Formats: sequence, structure tokens, C-alpha cells
Amino acid sequence: MSTFGAVSTVLARRSTPLKIFFRNDDGGWADERLQVLASGFVQRELPLDIAVIPDALSSQSIDVITALLDAGGRIAIHQHGLAHTNHQRSGRSCEFGSDRNRRQQQNDIAQGQRMLAEVFGQRVCPVFTPPWNRCTRDTAEAIQALGFHCLSRIAGSDDLGASVAELPVTIDWLKKRKGVRLTTTELIDYLCALLDTDTGTIGVMLHHEPMDRDNRALLWQFIETVAQSPRVSFHSMMDIARDQRA
Ligand SMILES: [Zn+2]
Repeated sequence: MSTFGAVSTVLARRSTPLKIFFRNDDGGWADERLQVLASGFVQRELPLDIAVIPDALSSQSIDVITALLDAGGRIAIHQHGLAHTNHQRSGRSCEFGSDRNRRQQQNDIAQGQRMLAEVFGQRVCPVFTPPWNRCTRDTAEAIQALGFHCLSRIAGSDDLGASVAELPVTIDWLKKRKGVRLTTTELIDYLCALLDTDTGTIGVMLHHEPMDRDNRALLWQFIETVAQSPRVSFHSMMDIARDQRA
């Protein structure tokens, strides 16, 4: 049995389709690792949505991301905050948290939106991923005002009480417990628990920066395993958002 045999067993029990998307965060950081990970998606003709930090973009990052978009694969990009800076005076890190009001948040998001548009034009998808997957109702209202179609946080986040469409990620590929990365055995248990559901869509959150060669190899094994299930298909975030709107 392969490393992810238990995942195959869980998927074999499914009777309904499962759409999977991959959201890779922190474009603008660690360009070389972004290039390697995303090229793996291009080679496999798999969709990958890269959440890009506008204020982190160097000329090298822009070259890497442009080459990925031009590679003829299924790479998409969207906005990941403005600078990935924590503005909370205490508590958990947030760039768009309770310590900043609606006007401050909207100004930052609009600035990031302009920066990405200047570099990538129409190729930027109208999706907003807040750094650390955290934001407030003000953020949701700001992105709606700025024309974004959907917000992506992590499944189980607080209800924002806003009408914005949400496309959360469910799986954190680099899941930690008490600050320690799961072992492969623990990761498989975690994946099985999350995949053993009737949910029609599952998002997998990646972070290219900490993913080394071994970890990428494990990801490809996981993807090859789930791809064998006739129930599973892979989609971009905008494909899924469009289906949800329809
Ligand atoms: Zn991030």
C-alpha cells in the first residue's frame, strides 16, 4: 500500500463528487521555492491559485510569477493582503484585524489591488486571502466595495455576518500542533479525517516557503493518490466561485 493508502480507502467510500483546489500563500517571498512548487503544478497540468503579497514583490518575484502565468498551465494569482504586516497591538497576528478600522483596511486593500493591477493587469483574480486567514466584517465589506468576488479564509473561521462569498481552505498541508509540524503518520490521519466528509469542495492550503524537496515529494504522492479516485477533480478557485454563484 502506498504512503497515502488510507486516503484512498476514505475516498473509495465516497459516492459524491469532490472538487479540490490548491491555494498557495505568500507569493512575493522565497521566489525560488515558489518557482519550483508552481512548476510542478504546471508540469502536471493542475490548477494552482497563488496568493500574492503586493508589497513583497521584487523584480525577481515579478519575473518568476509572470513566467509561471505564461507557462501555459493553470496558474492563477490573487491578492494576499498588502504587506503581510501584523497591526494588532496584542493577541494573534492580523493585518486586517480589530485594531484597524474600515477606512484603514479599505485603503490598504485598494493600494494592494492597484499594485497588482499595475504589474499583472487583468490576470489578477478578484479573490482576497487575508494574511493568517484572519479578518473582520470591515474587511469583508471593504473587499465587496472594491469589487472582489470572494474571500478565502480557513474553514471554521468566525462568521463575519457579511454577505461576501467565501471559499475557505480546509486542509493546512503544513499543519502544526502546539507549534510542531505533524509527522507523516499524523498528517495522514488529519487528511483522512478531513476527507471523510460529504462536502463537495475541499481547499488545500500550501506555503511554498517552508516546503523543501521532501515535503514537495510528499505532496505529489498525495495528489497522485487522490487523482486516482474517479470522484475527485481539480479546479481553480475562480471555477469554484463561478459554480457557487451560478
Ligand atoms: Zn500568508
